[in-house]
Amino acid sequence: MRSRKTFTLVFAGSTLLTVAAYATPGPQRMVAPKLYGLTEIADGVYTDDPSKAAQEMLLISQANAKVKAFFGALETTPRYVLCTTMMCEKAFGKNNRIAVTYGWHAIHLPPRGANDPHLGQILLTHERVHSELHKRWGASELWDAKFPTWFDEGLASYLSGDDRLRLDYSDKDIQWISHARRIYSWGSFIQERGWADAYGAATAYVTRIQAKAGEKGLHELIDRTIKGEDFDAVLADLMRDNRS
Ligand SMILES: [Zn+2]
Repeated sequence: MRSRKTFTLVFAGSTLLTVAAYATPGPQRMVAPKLYGLTEIADGVYTDDPSKAAQEMLLISQANAKVKAFFGALETTPRYVLCTTMMCEKAFGKNNRIAVTYGWHAIHLPPRGANDPHLGQILLTHERVHSELHKRWGASELWDAKFPTWFDEGLASYLSGDDRLRLDYSDKDIQWISHARRIYSWGSFIQERGWADAYGAATAYVTRIQAKAGEKGLHELIDRTIKGEDFDAVLADLMRDNRS
């Protein structure tokens, strides 16, 4: 009896927790976007405004083409949630400030991107670069300093052609952002000097690597670190003047 009662209580409790989780606005709702009024306009692509489906799918395919141009064949098929209104945005616990990638599984685009094709393409490209890089690096690696966050953000911004950022950052600025190594410390760099400087300096750093070693060098940095070499050692190798 006792165990049955315990089971019932635990079951009732976990059901309540599940109900509470989905009743509370937040990204967990991306598991079942249709429950919150979104329409699936293509496999795994959800929006609150299916009348814009053609434009939304074009944005995704243009972003994917840019990411493919760098990575080659794409390894991920993230779910997309595109919100064109604040009502949708709030249902997923967002405030129209940023686009987000969850691991390599899901991408959320806020109204300011969904309603502005130019910005929308930049944001979708940026997030899709994250999903491809996160898949190649492996999720657990993102939480340690092995693959620095400045490179993750810098590469995403560089490949998205983010024209909101300036790139004329000094050695001192690059030095500053090179300390942004972990995903959970990125916010403190944004807080310190603002998002434009954090993303701008990270992008300027990636641009410097590209100028020195080419996109081939960026690939080499990613590929060698995936195989277990130390990121900083490979980077130093790429940036040497007399590299043979
Ligand atoms: Zn990012």
